Amino acid sequence: MDQSLAPIEFADSDIFFECPSCAKGLAIDRRGAGLMITCPDCGTRMQVPVPDDLDPKLKKTAVSNGHDEHIRALQHAVAATKTQAETLAGDLTTLRRRRQKLEKSHSENLDRFEQIHQQLVLIQNAIDRIIPLIQDAVSGEPEGD
Ligand SMILES: [Zn+2]
Repeated sequence: MDQSLAPIEFADSDIFFECPSCAKGLAIDRRGAGLMITCPDCGTRMQVPVPDDLDPKLKKTAVSNGHDEHIRALQHAVAATKTQAETLAGDLTTLRRRRQKLEKSHSENLDRFEQIHQQLVLIQNAIDRIIPLIQDAVSGEPEGD
């Protein structure tokens, strides 16, 4: 017989409960009271219920099981937030560098445009001086004063 098909033995002391999501019947040793577990069927995370008649000693364990789980979840959340913050800080640095590059290239372009503009002014002035000379040459009349 396949191992997975073998009948599972439960103890009377086990905690029996249902998955709140898929209603699968679950059983766990009493020492697991208060633990966070994952439903083997649907993957829902749930806390093992703590029976009212639980041995006081086990009840203490159950509470600390819950606390430990809560602390682990918080630590996980803190770690995730830290990673997220580091990622954001990295993005910010990248964006700042990109902005500096763009600003530099922008000011370089402005310089270039200014140089082109000056050249154009020089050319325009030269044209302005040449045109009357050409007109004079064509009309054959000296420029009057
Ligand atoms: Zn389930």
